[in-house]
Amino acid sequence: MDAAQPGGPSLPQERRLVTAIPGPKSRELTERRSRAVARGVSTTLPVFVTRAGGGIVEDVDGNALIDFGSGIAVTGVGNSAEPVVRRAREQLERFTHTCFMVTPYESYVAVAEELNRLTPGDHDKRSALFNSGAEAVENAVKIARAATRRQAVVVFDHAYHGRTNLTMALTAKNMPYKESFGPFAPEVYRVPLAYPFRWPGGAANCAREAAAQVIDVITTQVGADNVAAVVIEPILGEGGFIEPARGFLPRIAQFCRTHGIVFVADEIQTGFCRTGQWFACEDEGVVPDLVTTAKGIAGGLPLAAVTGRAEIMDAAHVGGLGGTYGGNPVACAAALGAIEEMRASALDAAARRIGAVMKARLSALAEAHPVIGEVRGRGAMIAVELVAPGTTDPAPAVAAAVAKACHAEGLLVLTAGTYGNVLRFLPPLVIPERLLVEGLDVLAGAVRGVA
Ligand SMILES: *Cc1c(COP(=O)(O)O)cnc(C)c1O
Repeated sequence: MDAAQPGGPSLPQERRLVTAIPGPKSRELTERRSRAVARGVSTTLPVFVTRAGGGIVEDVDGNALIDFGSGIAVTGVGNSAEPVVRRAREQLERFTHTCFMVTPYESYVAVAEELNRLTPGDHDKRSALFNSGAEAVENAVKIARAATRRQAVVVFDHAYHGRTNLTMALTAKNMPYKESFGPFAPEVYRVPLAYPFRWPGGAANCAREAAAQVIDVITTQVGADNVAAVVIEPILGEGGFIEPARGFLPRIAQFCRTHGIVFVADEIQTGFCRTGQWFACEDEGVVPDLVTTAKGIAGGLPLAAVTGRAEIMDAAHVGGLGGTYGGNPVACAAALGAIEEMRASALDAAARRIGAVMKARLSALAEAHPVIGEVRGRGAMIAVELVAPGTTDPAPAVAAAVAKACHAEGLLVLTAGTYGNVLRFLPPLVIPERLLVEGLDVLAGAVRGVA
């Protein structure tokens, strides 16, 4: 390992606080930022980063924070992971861009082959590459509409699919994603989600009852024959790491099969080993028609994809899909490096180990502090939902206070959820266990202090 390499794997794996968080240099940069950057672009923790790697983010003031965010589930393989840097650097030195639609290159094809191999199901598949998750979801809808010659798209309560016009329409939560940004794309229908913690009929009946409601709404209000696609996150991300009750996803997938509806799994946050498997759908053996990926795919470089059944993917006419930068060669090289690292280091198993450590510790914390209403998630995608003790009433102020206390102690955590009352944890899959445990210690202290 090159000791002179900035950040990446050589960064010391230790939490270190040398100033208040944020420190004076970060506060100065925040001031400068406020005069240059639109305020609509917000920040969870305003420390300006100089280096990052393993489980550590280092700031301009010399503080080293434990990373429970991975830049929102992106740097699963770690920041500046060696195979990502090596392959991206080699590619940067050869050529930076030709546009795959003008003159192609092998790495795009190699990424498509990997996606076709890795995503659930052994049917014949095709892939198309894009820049962002939202763009991938938009294209999945375009492809499903072309394949079915239908228009309606069905999405779920608490869903998050992006910030472009169509994906805002697919996203459930108004503030901050949609407020004042309408009108939204038409032919989008929202149905209930099997959210066990909040299901009126109780968690035990949740999958069956919720699926029945979904099918009823689609049948009576939309018409199954009008539906091009059902789009769902196998574990909801921004919505609060909600695991749909077991049995819900297979029921919805079966309904789609029966009615010729394209079942789209949005694995943008859950994919690439995050939940302890390559893709979260595998947990219940669900085989989607189309899968959207992004975030964890390329170790931090912008890349996204739609992968799915060849006959559906190829329904879009020649020239109908693409974009100037989609499948940029540097991003493709990075993706091949990230996938190499996931395989070589068995990061699916690493995510399962992270999940076991987190769940044990957080469950004990929940026993002691009834403000934690539920601990949930899989692999390295774990959350706690905070409530008024003994109820399911959301406690967003508690979540914000715990997050703030964690940040002050050098632990980067994110919040989520329709009610803003969920603390979510997305450590890099390469985080040293010692740092993971130390991060949980900090979190426990913060919960104790606030509760
Ligand atoms: C982040 C996310 C998106 C949007 O991805 P961007 O790259 O931010 O456009 C879509 N769906 C899910 C499930 C996500 O987590």
